[in-house]
Amino acid sequence: MKTISIIGAGIGGLTSAIYLQNNGYNVKIFEKNSHPGGKMDIIQEKGFKFDTGPTIVMMPDVYKKPFTDSGVNYEDYFSLERVNPFMDVITGEGKVALSSDLTDLAREFEAYDESEMLGFLKYLTDIYGKYINAKDNFIYKSFRGPKDFFNFKTLWHAYKLKTFSSSFEAIQKNVSNTNLQYLLSFQTLYIGISPFSGPSIYNIIPMIELVYGVWFIKGGMFEYAKALEKRFLELGGEVIYNSEVTKIVVPQNKHVNGLLINGNLEKSDAVIANSDFPYTMTDLLDISDTKKGKYSEKKVQSMDYSMSCFLLYLGVDTKYAELNLHTIKMANNFEKNVEDIDTGVLPEDPSFYVYNPSAIDDTFAPQDQSALYVLVPVANLKENENWSTEVVTNFSEKIIKKVEKELGLVGLNEHIVYQSIHTPDTFKNKYNSAYGAAFGLKPTLKQSNYFRPHNKHSKIDNLYFAGASVHPGAGVPIVVTSGELTAKEVMRDL
Ligand SMILES: Cc1cc2nc3c(=O)[nH]c(=O)nc-3n(C[C@H](O)[C@H](O)[C@H](O)COP(=O)(O)OP(=O)(O)OC[C@H]3O[C@@H](n4cnc5c(N)ncnc54)[C@H](O)[C@@H]3O)c2cc1C
Repeated sequence: MKTISIIGAGIGGLTSAIYLQNNGYNVKIFEKNSHPGGKMDIIQEKGFKFDTGPTIVMMPDVYKKPFTDSGVNYEDYFSLERVNPFMDVITGEGKVALSSDLTDLAREFEAYDESEMLGFLKYLTDIYGKYINAKDNFIYKSFRGPKDFFNFKTLWHAYKLKTFSSSFEAIQKNVSNTNLQYLLSFQTLYIGISPFSGPSIYNIIPMIELVYGVWFIKGGMFEYAKALEKRFLELGGEVIYNSEVTKIVVPQNKHVNGLLINGNLEKSDAVIANSDFPYTMTDLLDISDTKKGKYSEKKVQSMDYSMSCFLLYLGVDTKYAELNLHTIKMANNFEKNVEDIDTGVLPEDPSFYVYNPSAIDDTFAPQDQSALYVLVPVANLKENENWSTEVVTNFSEKIIKKVEKELGLVGLNEHIVYQSIHTPDTFKNKYNSAYGAAFGLKPTLKQSNYFRPHNKHSKIDNLYFAGASVHPGAGVPIVVTSGELTAKEVMRDL
């Protein structure tokens, strides 16, 4: 039986592991931390529970796939419920409860003008067409060599994506009110890229939200990481926790021999790195720089990295009845806010997102209390390295005051009984994410589709990659897809 080693029990690693183990391979995952999930992590303290990373479930069918494809019913592993309206968005013009119900959306857009609804429907038709094209020709397809992309059919589909304008410009063509434009554009931040500079194809994110809805996993996101781990173990796989891989051993620069862990060589027939791609190339791949193919150390350092996040996890000894599951407060000057993030400036008036799972699930906090998660998009460590204790303290105090005032959470500061903070340093140190970029390599045009690192190394014949920094990209469902595509690449070769 062929043996496969996987570096990392993140969502990408776990998904690849299920597909391979289910197809008769002998799979072992080595994970540096003590539990599964990677950035889909959890804090459990003083009666509170916090999902620390992803919170918004989109494309639920993709979440189900590793279970249905391995022959079981996903409902025996995790439960989904739809959330609608799915997001309260607060802009300079007040609060909007974003809904994926067309009747509600029509009311919202027609309140501005019927022409705005017409523009919205035109925008939806256009972006839905592009989504179908992207899904069938780019997202669910892996690339190995130039022939996979530079052929007439694929180039024609790439041309039809017409992705050269920014997300925001594409929306402006159809919808004229700035407030509505903001409501349809902030979602590119979910993958760590500005709507003002990110390619227009990423408008598929708000489209997916509106067309397919937003969902919640009962008990929280970490239940999904546990579900993947459970399925993999049931199939006979093995996860070795607290095991940091220090080298991918490639004796003749062509073929991986195994992984170095605690000074011991763990041999295998193939290796999948779910560890962040740039870190894997610079820190783990034990070959001379000139043999690394396209991704030499210099090249990796010069690549564009996504935003990072500053996160507060607040255990609060009260409940705020008016605070729904997901709330976004957009900066008064959203464009300036995003520009500050891109240039490494700690925003004076940041946008922020608050997740309040206690609103619909009582497993997160003791009775009549709540577990709040506050996310502020900030620059990665390449743009801003200064997260000294003083900066962290001042910024967290400022954010708590803002949340209290702008969401009307009376007495929030006095009600905090537990607090934990994650900064870009946490992503770098805990998960080995290059430059602490929360969403991996930035999905610019130059780093998307064929131009994103592939799922298989170009020169080493048994080294593969799954995860947010490689094809097709970041976000839980896309990383699940990456895990599946990578497993299929391995099976194609072995
Ligand atoms: C704050 C935040 C909010 C988000 N919100 C959402 C959301 O609402 N919805 C959504 O869909 N997506 C969201 N995302 C994105 C999503 O969480 C990620 O894209 C996805 O979880 C990344 O999975 P991964 O498998 O690529 O990597 P990771 O989760 O980084 O997993 C990599 C694993 O490899 C391990 N590892 C690294 N180096 C080594 C080594 N040397 N040896 C052994 N193990 C190693 C790490 O410990 C980690 O467990 C969010 C991300 C963040 C950070």
